[in-house]
Amino acid sequence: GSADAQCDVLVLGAGPGGYSAAFRAADLGLSVVLVERYSTLGGVCLNVGCIPSKALLHTAAVMEEAQSLVKHGISFEKPAIDLDGLRAYKDGVVGKLTGGLAGMAKARKVKVVTGVGAFADPHHLTVKSADGATQTIRFASAIIAAGSQSVKLPFLPDDSRVVDSTGALQLASIPEKMLVIGGGIIGQEMGTVYSALGTRLDVVEMQNALMLGADRDLVKVWEKMNKRRFDRVMLNTRTVNAAAKDDGIWVEFEGEGAPEGPQRYDLVLQAVGRAPNGKRIGADKAGIAVTDRGFIDVDTQMRTNVSHIYAIGDIVGQPMLAHKAVHEGHVAAEAIAGQKSFFDARVIPSVAYTDPEVAWVGLTEEQARDRGIKIEKGLFPWAASGRAIANGRDEGFTKLLFDADTHRIVGGGIVGTHAGDLISEVVLAIEMGADAVDIGKTIHPHPTLGESIGMAAEVAEGSCTDIP
Ligand code: FAD
Repeated sequence: GSADAQCDVLVLGAGPGGYSAAFRAADLGLSVVLVERYSTLGGVCLNVGCIPSKALLHTAAVMEEAQSLVKHGISFEKPAIDLDGLRAYKDGVVGKLTGGLAGMAKARKVKVVTGVGAFADPHHLTVKSADGATQTIRFASAIIAAGSQSVKLPFLPDDSRVVDSTGALQLASIPEKMLVIGGGIIGQEMGTVYSALGTRLDVVEMQNALMLGADRDLVKVWEKMNKRRFDRVMLNTRTVNAAAKDDGIWVEFEGEGAPEGPQRYDLVLQAVGRAPNGKRIGADKAGIAVTDRGFIDVDTQMRTNVSHIYAIGDIVGQPMLAHKAVHEGHVAAEAIAGQKSFFDARVIPSVAYTDPEVAWVGLTEEQARDRGIKIEKGLFPWAASGRAIANGRDEGFTKLLFDADTHRIVGGGIVGTHAGDLISEVVLAIEMGADAVDIGKTIHPHPTLGESIGMAAEVAEGSCTDIP
């Protein structure tokens, strides 16, 4: 058919997966069109995910830390909160990054087309812009990076006091009482922000624990430090109904932790997971197979069942994380450029940017136990870390897990301030096939929290005798 534009590579969606793929493809000499429905690049992560949440979490952590300095002999007045100012700061952070991406696209001559894209056939995508105009783009290869959106519970009323993470990040007001539905990372991060601003929290989780996926010993430390934020932690419990009334959203619960009768909330956050956008892009017109749940299956080069069409990021499956999307984006672009790139990561790290942070990677102790894998453990408590004590934050610990036969590192977890930054060394160690001696004999700068990784390795080796 006729086309308004054509390119070597069409990328559908400009989140971390899409822009990374587009930039890599352009750097490899391919002509690239990047289609995005919103006027800014960056997708969920930059606009309504990773970045704005971290701008707010940083603010929350500094605010609370400032208050805690009273035990260091320094006291501040109770913080005065200017919500417009905080919102402006967060929006400024996002703007800086999305603006930077637009500049990077331009510098690489990546053509950005704004509008909703849908496949017309295996070599054409139709883009409909907000003003109703349509254009058709012909492509040799395509990369689908259309991401995911939050799952909506059907019985929750359509009301401004019922939000998903995007609504929560808008910070319309500081509610007195908030319900977080879902015990996962996104819910706990948003809860942390609102709690620091003065909101009382309830959390409800269908399963038997919060922050599933991480080892319980890590999560326990977070729970102990965060107990004060919650009026109720309802586990093995579901929300079953909700009604919007003048005085609040009244929610009914069922299960082990369910309180009697409906409870009143000023804000209800639903954070019960994210669903892929696979069914909203006309995939069938191009012959692309989409699963019942809306995911697109790919091979290790990120290729779908249609060999010149690739898919990356949240839309291809768990874990739905930005750093996974970026890595996959690079693989797909390189494969299209004819390189022998494959998705071959041994591990993908996870981080809850709560306070303290919880970070983990690779095999957990729980998984090792379930699978009957014999491991050696090296655990270093931060109560023995000079730096953690100096920081006044020694509640955390660093744990490394080694294969009992080879002594190679297979997993690790860190709970404490900056755990998310610290976990990278553990990821690298796993990718490099390091053993306990490699890590333990690596000289770490003193006094740092990072030292705890070397110490944990020495504990596993049995050579840690002089804890500082
Ligand atoms: P997305 O970022 O979802 O981008 C997809 C893009 O495609 C969107 O911009 C969308 O508008 C566009 N699009 C979709 N369909 C069409 C169409 N038909 N036409 C045109 N455009 C279309 N991950 C982390 O790693 N670390 C974190 O700290 C973190 N925090 C998060 C906090 C929150 C509150 C949320 C919601 C998520 C967070 N995530 C985090 C997850 C992270 O945002 C996602 O994993 C990541 O954005 C996925 O990237 P992606 O490229 O697959 O898709």
